[in-house]
Amino acid sequence: MRHRFRGKFYHVECLDTWRGRSAKNREQGYCTSPEKPNRAIVLRRKMPKRSQLANAIHEAMHACSWDLSEETVNESSIQIAAYLKKLFHIIPNEDFWGPQ
Ligand SMILES: [Zn+2]
Repeated sequence: MRHRFRGKFYHVECLDTWRGRSAKNREQGYCTSPEKPNRAIVLRRKMPKRSQLANAIHEAMHACSWDLSEETVNESSIQIAAYLKKLFHIIPNEDFWGPQ
């Protein structure tokens, strides 16, 4: 799929394995610089540490604010994911996701 972050389109994909990918990208996912061509966010389907939701937020934060530190992105994405998971329980599904 494609998604636009701050005016720049990213190709977004979710992979089961990292075969053929460089070692530094084998953890939970990655996001390429918004200044480079062929921008991409790649998410790993199975998460050893962070949840899938926290991982998706983490890489989206990089796409939106490339200058933020890894520590800030990591801490914030985990907290935002926990916040959203709590909201899932108190907001009816149709209200949470809006009209489809
Ligand atoms: Zn990161």
